[in-house]
Amino acid sequence: MTAGVLSRYAEWLPIGEATPRISLGEGATPCVSSRVMAQQMGLASLHFKLEGLNPTGSFKDRGMVVAVAKALEQGSRAIVCASTGNTSASAAAYAARVGLRAGVVVPAGGIASGKLLQAQVHGAAVLSVRGGFDAALRLVRELSERYAVTLVNSVNPHRIEGQKTAAFEIVDELGDAPDVLAIPVGNAGNITAYWRGFREYRAAHRCSHLPRMVGAQAAGAAPLVLGEPVADPMTVASAIRIGNPASWQGAVDARDESEGLIDSVTDDAILDAQDRLAREEGIFCEPASAASLAVLEKAVGAGAIARGAHAVCVLTGTGLKDPAAVSAKVAPPVDVEPTADAVAAALGLPRA
Ligand SMILES: *Cc1c(COP(=O)(O)O)cnc(C)c1O
Repeated sequence: MTAGVLSRYAEWLPIGEATPRISLGEGATPCVSSRVMAQQMGLASLHFKLEGLNPTGSFKDRGMVVAVAKALEQGSRAIVCASTGNTSASAAAYAARVGLRAGVVVPAGGIASGKLLQAQVHGAAVLSVRGGFDAALRLVRELSERYAVTLVNSVNPHRIEGQKTAAFEIVDELGDAPDVLAIPVGNAGNITAYWRGFREYRAAHRCSHLPRMVGAQAAGAAPLVLGEPVADPMTVASAIRIGNPASWQGAVDARDESEGLIDSVTDDAILDAQDRLAREEGIFCEPASAASLAVLEKAVGAGAIARGAHAVCVLTGTGLKDPAAVSAKVAPPVDVEPTADAVAAALGLPRA
């Protein structure tokens, strides 16, 4: 099978003969079943969709490959995006892959070190502006209207189209849609994309039902929970530090049409979920991703999601991108003498 989202799901995407079939091997990420958390919550099953295994370490690659292929098809020479980090990493990589120029506009001081580094190593022009993600997005929207450059934020409809393939993969791998799909919500493109993907598969009789969509926001950046934009969003989960989501209506539709919910959790709950995923499940995701687990746990605890449900949690990006978020939770290396006895004593090992 040819690698990549464009080849695997061509008939579901707005691409044709003239669209270059570019790829960095995105998509086809595993759905890994939980070892302990499904039982702890009383769920019939819980799978983690490991989107951190995409080429640049987040789900953004699924939509970016479509947006960049369409930009090439349309003769564009340059792409631009505003980003909390992962969009810029992905845009920079795909631009490098196909020889386009990339400009990324990031909130000053608001992006994780690994994500910034990715944009830099791939040769994007990285511009940092005051005012947070929402201001950066307004800026690049105006830029793309007045200058010859393609905007590759999720307001570009090709991004959403590409991202819906993750919903296809879940159904293809598990054999049907889950009862519940838990997902972090920032700019709300991804929850919009999954909901579209499930609906398209349902209409084509690929799955027997639709999941309830459970969206996760951080308490300090929860416009969809509050029902109004947040002027100065704050959270350790920088990928969802967004106060005025571009796909607001898409998120509300996904929630309401699926009889789901969108709720918020504190930064402490997010970091605790991230820590337990690492220690108890062997999965290191970034804080924003862990918000989906924290909100799912909250919803099950409150009885809003039935025990006995089959759930999938979308872990949107890899934890390696944001070492600063976890540095306070990890122990420093222990200095020992370079002898077997000293190491055994430090590890508390019994003799053989
Ligand atoms: C972009 C991103 C999100 C939020 O997705 P939206 O489509 O903006 O709602 C969540 N987690 C990670 C790791 C991301 O990169």
